[in-house]
Amino acid sequence: MQIDKSHPESRICTERNWHVFSISEVLSEVESTHEGISPEEAAARLETHGPNRLPAPPRAGLLRRFFTHFDNILIYVLLGAGVITSLLQHWVDTAVILAVVVVNAIIGFAQEGKAEKAMDAIRHMLAPWAAVMRGNQRYSVESEKLVPGDIVLLESGDKVPADLRLLKTHGLQIQEAILTGESVPVEKHTDPVDAATALGDRTCLAFSGTTVTSGQGMGVVVATGAQTEIGRISGLLAEVETLTTPLVEQMGTFARWLAFLILAVAALIFAFGLFILQHEFSELFMAIVGLSVAAIPEGLPAVLTITLAVGVQAMARRNAIVRRLPAIETLGSVSVICTDKTGTLTRNEMSIASVIMQGDQYVIEGDGYEPLGAITLEGRPVSIADHPSLLELARVATLCNDAELRKQEESWIVEGDPMEGALLAFAAKTGMDGGEARNQWTRTDIIPFDAKHKFMATLNHDHENHALIAVKGAPEQILAMCESSLSSTGDSAPLDEPEWRELVESLAAKGQRVLALATKPVQPEHTVLEQSDLGNALTLLGLVGLIDPPRQETIAAVEECVGAGIRVKMITGDHSATARAIGQQIGLQNTEKALTGVDIDNLDDAALAQEVLDVDIFARTSPEHKLRLVTALQAHDMTVAMTGDGVNDAPALKRADVGIAMGRKGSEAAKEASELVLADDNFASINAAVREGRTVYDNIKKVISWTLPTNAGEASTIIVALLFGMVLPITPIQILWVNLITAVTLGIALAFEPTEENTMRRPPRPRGQPLLTGVLIWHIVLVSFLFLCGVFGVYTYAIDREYSLDLARTMAMNALVVMEIFHLFFIRNMYGTSLTWKAVRGTRVVWLAVLVVTAGQFAITYLPPLQRIFTTESVSLLDGALIIGIGVALFVIIEIEKQVRIRLTQPGGKDGSHQGAGVEMQG
Ligand code: ADP
Ligand code: MG
Repeated sequence: MQIDKSHPESRICTERNWHVFSISEVLSEVESTHEGISPEEAAARLETHGPNRLPAPPRAGLLRRFFTHFDNILIYVLLGAGVITSLLQHWVDTAVILAVVVVNAIIGFAQEGKAEKAMDAIRHMLAPWAAVMRGNQRYSVESEKLVPGDIVLLESGDKVPADLRLLKTHGLQIQEAILTGESVPVEKHTDPVDAATALGDRTCLAFSGTTVTSGQGMGVVVATGAQTEIGRISGLLAEVETLTTPLVEQMGTFARWLAFLILAVAALIFAFGLFILQHEFSELFMAIVGLSVAAIPEGLPAVLTITLAVGVQAMARRNAIVRRLPAIETLGSVSVICTDKTGTLTRNEMSIASVIMQGDQYVIEGDGYEPLGAITLEGRPVSIADHPSLLELARVATLCNDAELRKQEESWIVEGDPMEGALLAFAAKTGMDGGEARNQWTRTDIIPFDAKHKFMATLNHDHENHALIAVKGAPEQILAMCESSLSSTGDSAPLDEPEWRELVESLAAKGQRVLALATKPVQPEHTVLEQSDLGNALTLLGLVGLIDPPRQETIAAVEECVGAGIRVKMITGDHSATARAIGQQIGLQNTEKALTGVDIDNLDDAALAQEVLDVDIFARTSPEHKLRLVTALQAHDMTVAMTGDGVNDAPALKRADVGIAMGRKGSEAAKEASELVLADDNFASINAAVREGRTVYDNIKKVISWTLPTNAGEASTIIVALLFGMVLPITPIQILWVNLITAVTLGIALAFEPTEENTMRRPPRPRGQPLLTGVLIWHIVLVSFLFLCGVFGVYTYAIDREYSLDLARTMAMNALVVMEIFHLFFIRNMYGTSLTWKAVRGTRVVWLAVLVVTAGQFAITYLPPLQRIFTTESVSLLDGALIIGIGVALFVIIEIEKQVRIRLTQPGGKDGSHQGAGVEMQG
């Protein structure tokens, strides 16, 4: 195959035979080297090649999307009614009906906009990152910014960010199911293959969108965006997810059925009124239209979606990104959180505090990753010349290490694993130049770290025919491989394993993470590193103790969880003494006992289920244990949230009720398996997500608890008047008006309710608790009845005082709206007392809603042109006060009813901060 060099630019991304070329041919074709292109060159190429992403599916035009909101059975009914009223020449009614239709579409449209914004924000926060080499420096860049020629580093759990020609592989295996349908991972190499090879066998290429299941690799980008293999197949981003959850969907279905039911009832009443009661057609027809519009909760699905969108955004602001929307609901009922330690409960800002070599215990000073600080022995700085073997330890720490330190502005940052960064900082404090050491001892092979075996090893060769193996890892693993240990002055002694174990315990008990480092010289012909090469003849260089302090927020977050009836359990790969020390610092409930991975292996499922409730710390576990722990907890009917970061955590994340992946250190594989991603890897964000989850659920409930009684109250006013042959206390057009003005104000306000004071002082909501409980139904009945009493009461009062019919109706209508407002304030605090200062003060959204409704009511009551349209009359000040008094009376009655119910159902319950409070409890 001849490479056409005459038009390199035009060929870069269209060449589809990368697999037949040698590495050097490919590198020259994409004009790159093993060190990568410079950051400036990358920026220039980004201009020519465009971002590395698939084109988004085209969106319908604005107008088109607006009009889709008219495509709804209720709207057809309304439009039909509009046609009839216009035939009857009731122009005003037609206009109001049309206004209802348009407003409904506007709410739907706005809701869609809000939902889209929420989803966009999420998508942006979930954008994947890639590790690249540019100008021989390691960077993390957004995958979208990758260009042909970039050198990408791959490790297990990564999603391949672009099509790559592999330059180096170490046990690299990639699962390519999305391209080939083959779910068994493919082993990758660097040798070119035959031109006719099928996609699935092009082992020297890594394809965009596939997942690294194990090993490490490095490759050069040959195609990005739509030019990649996956881009050619799909061409488009996956369908956009719509903002909904099972609960909201159920409510949507419920609302539709309710609409049909109401239409049927309305038709019955219409027939009854027309034929039996002999009402006049056009008046009766208008009353039936008013009844239907009032009773059907047409805005409910849209408002619930807004509630979800508000929740998603609130969670995103708190760094919790919801990948699967049903999780919003599940989060509210979480009863146990299983969390990683390192980086989630702790800061993952590591530094080495102590180093132990045979006979000597050093203390390391210095801040962060800055390569400056003294190494002291018994309080005095040591000179490296007197302790030459420290350099050997530093060399192993540098070679068996994938991280890099970089100075950014004033501070030093790590690219890669923070623990490895800490090792580099320590090595620098011995005076070692890490870059030079790595150049002198080039890496020929590696056994990458994995959470199961808990060590990492490299094989390195220098240029003078020497080779060595450098190993670091959990002390238990490393000690078992060693036969001797080295003192800092270079004396070797047989390994005294019990003593070393004691030293490990002493560091771990201080909460330090302990790592052992070992080495062994090998023959230079040795170029492939295998597990068996490690054997049991390594030389132990020493132990290092790393400190990784708990995050400040963790302690408060754990405390809040405990108050909310949520058990927090730590699952870590770390040593059990370290885990217990950290557990104590952050306030876990049971830090006396820890189960290790070995303990778990020795328990059968039944025994594990016994233990799992009481124990809060699980140490030296591997990812497989997480799956068993989730299952054991679920056997107790608990709703389990589980964190994870590695590719091996995926099964447990999937199994958990809420799988939570780490956004920063987590692998793409873990993110894909999870419901929630934490942008900041912080435990406090899980707690915040649970709080938001409870809030969203509460708000959904509040929206429903306000809407249904309101609709029922409005509708029953008309029904009662029609059935008992009375004069309507509120005209149909006034009902339409009330429905219109409250739908855009009060109806939406509850979607924005903040978290109630006692939200995190209640136990978690039991799983599968129905939404429409008996208490809610009772509330609907009670409030509808009170609405009826209020409306007819005011109306009768006005008629008795010989007010005109129009004035009586104006007063009745205003009473209805005032009662709706007071009902809203009641619902806002359905879990507690509504009469606290905080509760009364309300939120901006609520007051804005009240302000708009009030303005609207003043307008139609007092403005002459509107008076003519709606047949209203000005209400006197005294009567106005009476109307407000009715609202107050309603509020007092339902508040007393709530408090009595709380006290009756919850003996000893005082402030409603117990389960059983409020509207929603006990079906
Ligand atoms: P954690 O739950 O704290 O994240 P890990 O599974 O990351 O635990 O690590 C478990 C143990 O494996 C650590 O205590 C440490 O001894 C060892 N270890 C962790 N990372 C590495 C690494 N990159 N190289 C060698 N050993 C490691
Ligand atoms: Mg870890």
